[in-house]
Amino acid sequence: MAANKEIPYKIYLEENEMPQAWYNVRADMKNKPAPLLNPGTGQPMTAQELEGVFCKELVEQELDNDNAYIPIPEEIRSFYKMYRPSPLVRAYCLEEKLQTPAKIYYKFEGNNTSGSHKLNSAIAQAYYAKKQGLKGVTTETGAGQWGTALSMACAYLGLDCQVYMVKVSYEQKPFRREVMRTYGASVTPSPSDTTAVGRKILAEHPGTTGSLGCAISEAVEAATSQEGYRYVLGSVLNQVLLHQSVIGLETKIALDKYGIQPDIVIGCAGGGSNLGGLISPFAGEMLRGEADYRIIAVEPASCPSLTRGKFAYDFCDTGMVCPLAKMYTLGSGFIPSANHAGGLRYHGMSPVVSQLYHDGLLEATSVEQTKVFEAATYFARVEGILPAPESSHAIRVAIDEAVKCRETGEEKTIVFGLTGTGYFDMVAYEKFNDGTMSDYIPTDEDLAKGFAGLPKLD
Ligand SMILES: *Cc1c(COP(=O)(O)O)cnc(C)c1O
Repeated sequence: MAANKEIPYKIYLEENEMPQAWYNVRADMKNKPAPLLNPGTGQPMTAQELEGVFCKELVEQELDNDNAYIPIPEEIRSFYKMYRPSPLVRAYCLEEKLQTPAKIYYKFEGNNTSGSHKLNSAIAQAYYAKKQGLKGVTTETGAGQWGTALSMACAYLGLDCQVYMVKVSYEQKPFRREVMRTYGASVTPSPSDTTAVGRKILAEHPGTTGSLGCAISEAVEAATSQEGYRYVLGSVLNQVLLHQSVIGLETKIALDKYGIQPDIVIGCAGGGSNLGGLISPFAGEMLRGEADYRIIAVEPASCPSLTRGKFAYDFCDTGMVCPLAKMYTLGSGFIPSANHAGGLRYHGMSPVVSQLYHDGLLEATSVEQTKVFEAATYFARVEGILPAPESSHAIRVAIDEAVKCRETGEEKTIVFGLTGTGYFDMVAYEKFNDGTMSDYIPTDEDLAKGFAGLPKLD
């Protein structure tokens, strides 16, 4: 039945239709994201200061608020061709099952070994490190997808890769760790005693299962204390959103090819990179007054930075060694509950996404994890793909919106980002299947503790 429909199940692009340049939504933003500040001086970070931590060309991209298009180097494009373009899938089976008049599409980024969209930025960051003649890079990883993606990219380019992995994930996901080691990376559970900041965190919080903020502090220290190393980050930063714009650009090209105009664009939001990348071309059209869309960011109720956080300058890490970013944040001291299964555990949100949200270009909503796993299981059984828990936040809201259409009879077109697969998340699925998964929602008092640690800049 579905085979007779005029829009294919999977819209693939030809190689020559793939984007030649990343799109930098900052160029079209009237209110630019606030600059990163030096935590010591409270002044905007200069390129020179940033170059001590990040690769030179990535610093240029980080600070570039003006160029709308930044060419994708040929080497990166040829790496992309190994797993891109990624398909834009019409979820015919899901529509049928939901009995909805809505049309549902998802952009599937899980078709590579790392299993997520993170590879889009990992290869770009590794490429610029290599071009600069560095020996290697250091990074943190939470759920493990970023570390896996980076280890793949580093293996391809012959760079050393040192990963600090949030301890709870290191223990829960031994197979993730082994994939990274198979690609040649070294993996250290964080907080560890291999860095000064790690030792300090361990002394203050004995028995902590770690957080992304802690692991970032350790990875930055490791980069700045070794010759020929720089630090790379898998989300939050402007440069990462820029690289991830390949998701949104391909989506737009594929939709345009069939004359499809989405009404609602949905993405899960951890640090904001997949969401920012997916929505960039759509937000750009809104900013230029060319079109209007409903854009929805979905975050976990256990780590609600957009829906319950404050828009303020904050540290990007627990050790307070990184620059300050103005973003929606729960405070760098906020450590989300250990039982939270997804990888959306970062205390802050990309400054670009934060600014767009602040300016009313997107909405945000939060969902509880059992509701997320209900949606994940439903989706897996209907569409076949075993989704990552993170991605399933977007699935949840896409399903909810499609059900609303069933009730109102509206034929809305919904596009959501399916950021990855969940093969390494079976401990979380096991809890859900056993009925032992709980929903932890921080109280206002819990959040107040995190807010109390926000830096006072005046
Ligand atoms: C890392 C990750 C996310 C969340 O990170 P963002 O920077 O917010 O995109 C979402 N889905 C998957 C599969 C991930 O690996």
